[in-house]
Amino acid sequence: MDKLIERLKEEKITFSTEKEDLIAYCKDFNPLHQLKLLKKIYPALPEIVVFPKSIEEVSKVLRVANEFRIPVYVFGGASGVIDSATPYERGIALSTLGLDWFEIDEENRLVNAGAGVIGGRLEKFLNHKGFSLRHIPQSLFCSTVGGWVATASSGQFSTGYGNIEDLLVSLKVVLPNGEILEERRTPRRAGIDLKKLFIGSEGLFGIIAEVTLKIFELPKEVVKLSFKYPNLDSALEDAKKFLKLKPALMRIFDDEETLRYFDSEAFSLILIFEGENATERAKKAKEIALGEEVEGYAEKWLEKRFDVSEISKIGILGFVFDTIEVSCFWSFASKLYKAVIDAIRSVEGTVTASAHASHFYESGLCFYFTFAGFPSEPERYYKEVWQKAINASLQNGGNITHHHGIGRLRKAWLKEEFGSYFELLKELKSIVDKNNIMNRGVFP
Ligand SMILES: Cc1cc2nc3c(=O)[nH]c(=O)nc-3n(C[C@H](O)[C@H](O)[C@H](O)COP(=O)(O)OP(=O)(O)OC[C@H]3O[C@@H](n4cnc5c(N)ncnc54)[C@H](O)[C@@H]3O)c2cc1C
Repeated sequence: MDKLIERLKEEKITFSTEKEDLIAYCKDFNPLHQLKLLKKIYPALPEIVVFPKSIEEVSKVLRVANEFRIPVYVFGGASGVIDSATPYERGIALSTLGLDWFEIDEENRLVNAGAGVIGGRLEKFLNHKGFSLRHIPQSLFCSTVGGWVATASSGQFSTGYGNIEDLLVSLKVVLPNGEILEERRTPRRAGIDLKKLFIGSEGLFGIIAEVTLKIFELPKEVVKLSFKYPNLDSALEDAKKFLKLKPALMRIFDDEETLRYFDSEAFSLILIFEGENATERAKKAKEIALGEEVEGYAEKWLEKRFDVSEISKIGILGFVFDTIEVSCFWSFASKLYKAVIDAIRSVEGTVTASAHASHFYESGLCFYFTFAGFPSEPERYYKEVWQKAINASLQNGGNITHHHGIGRLRKAWLKEEFGSYFELLKELKSIVDKNNIMNRGVFP
């Protein structure tokens, strides 16, 4: 560590060993971390926090860390919820927030951004120029562009515009040994797309330093619709039909969430059409809908979509709260929803279990479950809910995650999810990160 500090000083790379900075980089947004922090227990303190401001500085830090085998934990906005970069083995917490540049290429509909740019700042800037990322996760204002790629993130408009992998054009990456990878930027090429190794890599293969994303003109025509249903199956039937009309956004809320958000006892669905022929497509949706049209749900949801103030309050009151998102093919949707809700409710201490479906594909969808409990042993309760919910998903045609990622929270199921690809992943990790310095302890 002394040698590292000496080199950082020589290279004039900003770092801190102040307690406040170490505390700021001791956790992500995982609910168990939040519970600990309320009791002033720090999940894990790094020895030093480093704030590189350029790709070359990232490279220099990794070269030294690799030489001295010092663990490096990568932090973007730290909005991840899966206990992924927590520095349990101390070492370096590397913040990407200093990689804070961006440049817009209006003609080619691209934006090139440093990995540490906070999404909300970029989106606001683009909006002033008449553009949008159309990648709008709920954590837009507290997550980074690099973090989105590293976690294979999904935005609220993914049904219309795709997930981060569909919006990504190019990457600059720094490998654990400090080597900088850069490719020729192009709209598309054949051959192996090696940058995909870094989508969802959660810091295990190196540091994403710069990201090129597609941008879109802000839509001129926007139409919002809301429907209610007596049960989930009829809402799912409508969702399949609506998908053919290419909505930008679609969400189904179960009865518990419809009551919570819209004060109505039903299942519900909201739809947003954007761009060309939005009005005509919305008209068609109304004609073919099984559901009863209702006023204002979509508008109400849009108004509240970044508001997570309730979550912060219930933690303080002693509730354990979290969300579990999984995906499945259409043929399993109804069965999977019921199985996971039942599994969560079967755990003693559960107060509420609910779900919405928020990302849709030709072949299937993502269910996003929310649970809260008031248990006598919070940690035991939390682990039991996760265990039962993920097992219920796997036994009923679902997977282990749609967009929050793996981290330590889900690593026990990674082998089951990846099948025989898991061995290849292990081999790749040992080649790319020979000294196992990156996010040590996260990979099983
Ligand atoms: C209230 C709330 C709402 C959320 N809503 C959504 C949502 O709608 N959609 C969604 O997809 N997610 C959502 N999330 C989860 C989270 O915001 C995403 O996973 C996000 O992409 C993480 O970005 P970050 O910059 O905060 O990354 P961090 O939390 O800092 O890091 C996450 C992981 O990525 C790695 N990492 C970060 N940056 C880099 C980099 N430059 N290079 C290599 N590795 C890196 C870290 O090591 C870690 O393993 C939400 C979280 C919260 C708390």
